[in-house]
Amino acid sequence: MSSSEKRINNLKIDPRIFTLKFGCKCNGECCHYGVYTDLKEYELIMSLKDKIIDAMDETQPKDTKVWFEEPQKDDDFESGFAVGTELYNGKCVFLDKAGLCTLQKLAVAEGKHHWDYKPVYCILFPFTVWEETFTIDDEHIDRLSHCNKKPQDDSPIYESCVEELKHFFGEEGFRQLEEFRMEYLSANKTLEKV
Ligand code: SF4
Ligand code: SF4
Repeated sequence: MSSSEKRINNLKIDPRIFTLKFGCKCNGECCHYGVYTDLKEYELIMSLKDKIIDAMDETQPKDTKVWFEEPQKDDDFESGFAVGTELYNGKCVFLDKAGLCTLQKLAVAEGKHHWDYKPVYCILFPFTVWEETFTIDDEHIDRLSHCNKKPQDDSPIYESCVEELKHFFGEEGFRQLEEFRMEYLSANKTLEKV
């Protein structure tokens, strides 16, 4: 298997994730399109509906019937089904008027880990899983007006996402990812010198 076909936790790893320069500079435009949640995440959110409604502001819908789209089959989701969040007032139903995610706000208010209620694809952006590949969410970045539009001088975003990557891959998966990163970066350095 060549290094470009590395798989971790059954996902192919797109090595572009190691070098993407990405600066996060706007106020949450990435939440203006909603997100696909796993069916299990949808069920968790619905089990918290009363508390979520209490935490919402007047720009968000309190009617749970307008929170989600119909589930659809999607093998990039653990349960095999994706459920998209709906938009309301031009933003994800869970985004408040201050640009904060109500699901994260609620978890923090309850003293839980800030991602306990947050869909994994929200945590991972600008990375994502697409057709069994852990990769960059180019499609979403491209449709946003500010996001990463100017050349970035910052360090690779991978280096700032250790918590997110460990959360997603687990400690052992992250260790393998780091190993692959070192191999990939040093192979590319060698190639640059040739
Ligand atoms: S749209 Fe891009 S720049 Fe804006 S908050 Fe989201 S990730 Fe950051
Ligand atoms: S669930 Fe929260 S983080 Fe995810 S798109 Fe909606 S508001 Fe943004």
